[in-house]
Amino acid sequence: MSDVLVKALLNGEAAVCACDISKMAEQARATHEALPIGTIILGRTMAATVMMCATLKNKKDKLTLMINGGGPAGTVMATGGEDLKVKAYVANPQVDMPRAEKGGFDIGGAVGAAGFLTVIKDLGLKEPFMGKVELVSGEIGEDVAQYYLLSEQQPSVVYVNTWLEVDMTVLNAGGLMVSPLPGCGEETLAGVEARAKEIVNFPLYRMQDSVEGVLRKIFDGMELQFLEERTPVFTCDCNRDRLSRVVISLGEEEINDMIEKDNGAQIKCHFCNKAYDFSADELRELLRTAKDNRERGKNGE
Ligand SMILES: [Zn+2]
Repeated sequence: MSDVLVKALLNGEAAVCACDISKMAEQARATHEALPIGTIILGRTMAATVMMCATLKNKKDKLTLMINGGGPAGTVMATGGEDLKVKAYVANPQVDMPRAEKGGFDIGGAVGAAGFLTVIKDLGLKEPFMGKVELVSGEIGEDVAQYYLLSEQQPSVVYVNTWLEVDMTVLNAGGLMVSPLPGCGEETLAGVEARAKEIVNFPLYRMQDSVEGVLRKIFDGMELQFLEERTPVFTCDCNRDRLSRVVISLGEEEINDMIEKDNGAQIKCHFCNKAYDFSADELRELLRTAKDNRERGKNGE
């Protein structure tokens, strides 16, 4: 089954978004050589990001989801666009933790809950929109729900998860989000709440059925109107120019070091691990740009 994102309306009063990103999550696992906890973090974060990107309106709109929980997994980041092309990384994909109390992987412990979830939306305006909320648990789904509640004043049910095969590759990854629209009636709200347990079963049902079929099963007895079906993709849009800017941002001292000590540098893209080689001559060129930037900054230009 290929990755898919489905949008629907529930009773005409609540927006439903569901995604299966199993292929994307497996690609991310392989790219980052992630161990189980890292894989689940990547899968959950990408599922949330894909569903958030599906709310963008214009072709050039971009969205970044960043989680800094202070846990051993380190910073988690996913970024994508209106086209549902998403890339993701976790600072420590090989993070390992003792089992959680309930016996499962301790995702909240690995991510940490002593920090913030930040969403940056670049909507082509002068300044990007930024929303930042304190983390609830580091389990990602709850934290994204908190973001919607506090930063967008949009109470939402957000469920994301990733299930692994015995060999620790991805069996299933995806998510489901329900957002009541303004004026949503009590009956619809109660209906969503009553089905909370079923919503958690989304990935299991999905293994035997289409996303539409699964949604019909979960929201049995409620009216579902399917609006849209799209294909999300895990892909990186890095290039030499972008990585050059990363080198420049390291600063003059660091660049000098790379020239003098190593006579060049290999810089890897965080998101896809692609390596870019820079010769000492190329680094000298970037060093000049870094210097120009600094002097321009000093003159207040
Ligand atoms: Zn890349």
